[in-house]
Amino acid sequence: MEPKTVYLDNNATTRTAPEVTEAMMPYFGELYGNPSSMHAFGGRIGKAVSEAREKVADFFNAHPEEIVFTSCATESDNTAIRGTAEYFGKTSKFITTAVEHPAVLQPGRRLRAMGHECVELPVDSLGRLDLDRLRSELKGTKNAIVSIMWANNETGTVFPVAEAAAIAKEAGAIFHTDAVQAAGKIPLDMQAVPADMASISGHKFHAPKGVGALFARRGTRFKPFMLGGHQEGGRRAGTDNVPYIVGLGKACEIAKAAMEDENRRLAAMRDRLEKGILATCPDVRVNGDPEHRLPNTLNVAFEYIEGEAIVYRLSDEGICVSTGSACASGSLDPSHVIRAMGVPFTAVHGSIRFSLSRYTTDAEIDYTLEKLPPIVKGLRALSPFGPGMDPTTFGG
Ligand SMILES: *Cc1c(COP(=O)(O)O)cnc(C)c1O
Repeated sequence: MEPKTVYLDNNATTRTAPEVTEAMMPYFGELYGNPSSMHAFGGRIGKAVSEAREKVADFFNAHPEEIVFTSCATESDNTAIRGTAEYFGKTSKFITTAVEHPAVLQPGRRLRAMGHECVELPVDSLGRLDLDRLRSELKGTKNAIVSIMWANNETGTVFPVAEAAAIAKEAGAIFHTDAVQAAGKIPLDMQAVPADMASISGHKFHAPKGVGALFARRGTRFKPFMLGGHQEGGRRAGTDNVPYIVGLGKACEIAKAAMEDENRRLAAMRDRLEKGILATCPDVRVNGDPEHRLPNTLNVAFEYIEGEAIVYRLSDEGICVSTGSACASGSLDPSHVIRAMGVPFTAVHGSIRFSLSRYTTDAEIDYTLEKLPPIVKGLRALSPFGPGMDPTTFGG
């Protein structure tokens, strides 16, 4: 018998909600018009895009004209960072954190290569930011750009984005936040958070892959990343991806309505998983800030074993988890997020992320708690490493 699939890798991507797929279907079929066309058929499609824009705006507690549809959060992040830098010219300083997604880190490094000053703020051992450090980096800057994620994809640590945005605004900087992992778990209230820009990705909260949005507050200036037609108010050229935009709108509507109950349910399951692992597996430590953490995320370091080995063994049992982020996997280097937190070398290679979603069940948590402890025990028995080991030989 095929092992069942227990999908605990929802920070990498989520299953598209059936309601979302259903809402999208007509736009693959008879409702195929171009929303920019002048005829009534196009107008009808334009109305669907407007309705989706209203739903996404409502999700951000923002105005519809503050929403720019994109192909993914990577595009949203690039647009916000590189588009603002291009608008400002050469004088800007870019300030971000060492634990951002590559979609923020790499644009920052490109800016550095182009001669901009680029600073990656460190985090402490719980993955927390020092806002005084942000304040001091902003001193004397002109046209600075700050990009600080709302919640971390690997550890679930939630940053004080409202405070950070206020500090940046006070210094006259532009503030962007990668809100991909916060979407659907933390209310993205842009009336309460004075950020200029925020990125989200559909496939991280039950819309399909290949659609995202950028919130850009009224009056925010940036050079478009995509040049061409006048779509999205001249901020992102290219014919609207109508079915996916409709899907993103639906996903926002569902996530907003379900958030409170879902968060409670997810946190209870996540806490049960955490307690179960701590009770059955010796030499484990939880990575991240236990006080400010997404309700669906658990990152655990299993000391003296390689995370990849755990991923493969769990995979044989049908359980999907990850080491670090999907975008960084494929390389055996330990995660930049875990390294930035100064996790001890005995644990750095053994960090595993469990991330739950609306479709995770209690039975799946039970199944994982049954399969995991013998795997950890088995790998430890094979491991040449353990307490008292020679650190220079660990981790290859
Ligand atoms: C997944 C992810 C992204 C990239 O989103 P895509 O839509 O896949 O480009 C960016 N930032 C964070 C924090 C993510 O988790």
